[in-house]
Amino acid sequence: MSVGEELKAIDRTYVWHPFTPHSAYADDDPLMVVAGEGHYLIDADGRRYLDGVSSLWCNLFGHRRAEIDQAIREQLDRIAHATFLGNATAPAVTLAKRLVDKAPAGLTRVFYSDNGSTAVEVALKMALQFWQQADGGAQKQRTAFLTFGNAYHGDTIGSVSLGGIELFHERYRPLLFKTIQAPSPGIEGCEDVLEGLVNARGHTLAAIVLEPGMQGAAGMVTQPPGFTRRVRELADRTGTLLVLDEVAVGFGRSGELFASNKEGVAPDFLCLAKGLTGGYLPMAATLTTERIFRAFLGHPSEGRTFFHGHTYTGNPLAAAAAHATLDIFEQTDLLAELPGKVARFTALLDELRVLPAVGDIRQYGLAAGIELVADRETKAPYPAVERRGMKVCAAARKRGVFLRPLGDVIVLMPPLTLADDEFTMLLRVTCDSIIEVCGAPVAVPA
Ligand code: PMP
Repeated sequence: MSVGEELKAIDRTYVWHPFTPHSAYADDDPLMVVAGEGHYLIDADGRRYLDGVSSLWCNLFGHRRAEIDQAIREQLDRIAHATFLGNATAPAVTLAKRLVDKAPAGLTRVFYSDNGSTAVEVALKMALQFWQQADGGAQKQRTAFLTFGNAYHGDTIGSVSLGGIELFHERYRPLLFKTIQAPSPGIEGCEDVLEGLVNARGHTLAAIVLEPGMQGAAGMVTQPPGFTRRVRELADRTGTLLVLDEVAVGFGRSGELFASNKEGVAPDFLCLAKGLTGGYLPMAATLTTERIFRAFLGHPSEGRTFFHGHTYTGNPLAAAAAHATLDIFEQTDLLAELPGKVARFTALLDELRVLPAVGDIRQYGLAAGIELVADRETKAPYPAVERRGMKVCAAARKRGVFLRPLGDVIVLMPPLTLADDEFTMLLRVTCDSIIEVCGAPVAVPA
């Protein structure tokens, strides 16, 4: 048995994987990563694969980036971890200042947690408690959250409200919050429905929660230009708060450092994770305003404190990785180069539009979703049982590219530093793999 086969046997026997149908897992021939180098993942047999989804959308500059490796090693020589509960650690404190300096104006406080889900959960809990405490609870009735169809936070809010209410501290237990769902922003008529919901229910809303620019997990569903700004205006009109979930689109993915800046919107809460540490370590940040922060002040005995936190909050190793990530943005020309990279990505994606199985291509900055359909005219989907998306990704694997689909949407989210020839290879392999699984056009693009 090769080392790779041995590892896979152990994996099959002992491990339960996230978002993974285990009846199909072994047959899907999962990649067993043992190393990485630049934009490539390396498996147990030494084969190299271009990391076409940035290790689930978080790796910004490739693997084993010298500056981040070095920063973590240096931090390791000081301390790996100490608590942040009623206490502080140096790199997380200075990181907060740097994040505030770069974030949209008005966001002045940083609350750390461990991942994208907790970054959003923190914003929701803060919004809920804010309305209980602000102005002596004058707007206590604001306990509902407006979310959008298929949004990632729609899912996570749903799971909290259904089964996870015990996640809340004792004091929140009577405050079972509701979610009100607007249709997905990509859907025609969404804005009218949204307007209607806000007019009718605005006074009950604790916050509106939006992934600005693009809903990633929904299948790379892009929004009409100006949508985020109109949602900000709606929030202001009804006096509620705006949570922008930039877990997927933050840190350069949108073409700018933060999508909020690109969309010209300052939220009340900005949720960051994934790329915050360059894709190295789990860390998240929820940024908010002094207005929110002040509503939690008072003598400790009054119980106005924000009762939430995690063991590894503000982890120094992760903070060191985040500092190195910001250094790279500051000390290289990457941000200035992003518009050129986005334009190149657009041009290469356009070439795939001739493929008969490609029903739609949706792009937001350096993220794209290629939707496979059985019929281009009617947009009828393939039967789910055919698992075309998974098959295309398996075909890409044979050609040296690692991809992971969202159903029949092929997701391309390469590291921001991808080189021109690697972009060409990524799109060439994607095209050839779609043709292998779904058929060729009458004339294949050169
Ligand atoms: N928000 C968005 C927009 C996401 O795309 C994701 C995960 N893909 C999350 C939150 C959750 O992040 P995590 O997996 O780090 O919990």
